[in-house]
Amino acid sequence: MPWLLDVAVPAFSQFWALLFPTECVCCQLPDASLCRRCRQRLRRSTVRPYRAEYAAGSLPEDSAGRVLPVVAAGVYRRELSLSLLAYKNRGHTDLGRTLAAALAGAVHHAVDGLADGAPVQLVPMPSTAAARRRRGYEPVQALLRQLHRRKMLPPGCNPAAALRVRPLWVRILFRPVGALDPSRRQLTRQATGHLLTGKAGQKGLGASARRTNVRGTMGLRHRRPRGGRDVRQCLIVDDVLTTGATIAEAHRVLDSSGFKVLGAVVLAATSPPQTDEAKPAGGRG
Ligand SMILES: [Zn+2]
Repeated sequence: MPWLLDVAVPAFSQFWALLFPTECVCCQLPDASLCRRCRQRLRRSTVRPYRAEYAAGSLPEDSAGRVLPVVAAGVYRRELSLSLLAYKNRGHTDLGRTLAAALAGAVHHAVDGLADGAPVQLVPMPSTAAARRRRGYEPVQALLRQLHRRKMLPPGCNPAAALRVRPLWVRILFRPVGALDPSRRQLTRQATGHLLTGKAGQKGLGASARRTNVRGTMGLRHRRPRGGRDVRQCLIVDDVLTTGATIAEAHRVLDSSGFKVLGAVVLAATSPPQTDEAKPAGGRG
């Protein structure tokens, strides 16, 4: 009963905060995980979702060279990044409500830009089993569930946890050939390190190395037949966009399994909105 967890975890954390008063994760003001001023700042920073794919060099392109569109709720800095980190890694599940509202704005923005009104599945980026055990929940999936429960998603949009992180032994056995290429010794060393620790750490890797590093890390949660009748439209939903390598891998798995991936939605992107002067005439952006 995953919905029970969605209700129980925030309720427990509020009860915990009563017993052990907390402080604002941004400015350390006592009594709330996010004080009123920081909450308002976070809301202001996510009030205008924007297209963020222009700066993410690892995102997939279609046959016409168009980069997969990505809508970000805000820039990954200050209140948004601090709240997201506290929500994911420091047990501040009570921040889920504010973060979910920001994500809802980006989902609506992405869906408004779609041509037809066909149903869209929202596929959350999965966590590793170790991260799930450590946190007790999957952050992006929990945010989407909360939006679904509070009826804050656009009509026809439903969360669909279609992806999972493949177990470590599967990833070691079915490691892509590129990672074993001797000319990429540095990458292999890093990739092997990540495999052994079970972490898909990406720091210090270039765009193509990042794509190779995450290749084969994900699979479908349930086997499903391929075929025209079975095509479903979806948007990939993730927390932070950096180079887009993880989204590219999710796209590869979904696309090869009969999903039509329309784009992605993220809570935050490391690159700010592109100014009009900086926009190229074609290509990315
Ligand atoms: Zn504050």
